[in-house]
Amino acid sequence: MDVLQLDISGRPQAWITTREAAAIYASDGVAWTLGDPCQVMRGGLQRRTGMQSRIEVHPIIAVRGSVPSRAWRQAPALSNAKLFARDRYICAYCGHSFHVDALTCEHIQPSSRGGSDSWMNCITACRGCNGRKGSRLPEEAHMSLLYLPYVPSLHEDMILRGRRILADQMEFLLASVPRSSRLHG
Ligand SMILES: [Zn+2]
Repeated sequence: MDVLQLDISGRPQAWITTREAAAIYASDGVAWTLGDPCQVMRGGLQRRTGMQSRIEVHPIIAVRGSVPSRAWRQAPALSNAKLFARDRYICAYCGHSFHVDALTCEHIQPSSRGGSDSWMNCITACRGCNGRKGSRLPEEAHMSLLYLPYVPSLHEDMILRGRRILADQMEFLLASVPRSSRLHG
């Protein structure tokens, strides 16, 4: 499992391993936690008692320290994996659901015609539909989009980046995802 790391104000920062989380606990860097402990890590021997230290890791931890505001203002980075997850693995043209291997990042305005590599210009399409559209605009190809692109919020981005998200973590993140997001589908 991965631990969701927040800054002290509760904004998501990263997915970290339980080992990384344990190191933050050990250095007294955890300000507060959410959810029931989900893993127990064994630390080093305590000099005073000779007992092995024991760290209970929570699924969500807020770390002490300053709030990095720059990351919060930036749009999340685009990747194929996150784009396909945003679009629920459904081709925007034929509406069928596909395995990741059969999907492509389709530029609504083709790259060859100045279309950007951005959340608003990219949409998930199957290889067949992408090939059929070629370097045309959807209206030129008489192919309409069945859903629209959007820029994910940072909370949504954490969901798109997550590998195995625990129920506590999903509940926390979804609470801050706009109702308009497809993740609520
Ligand atoms: Zn298709």
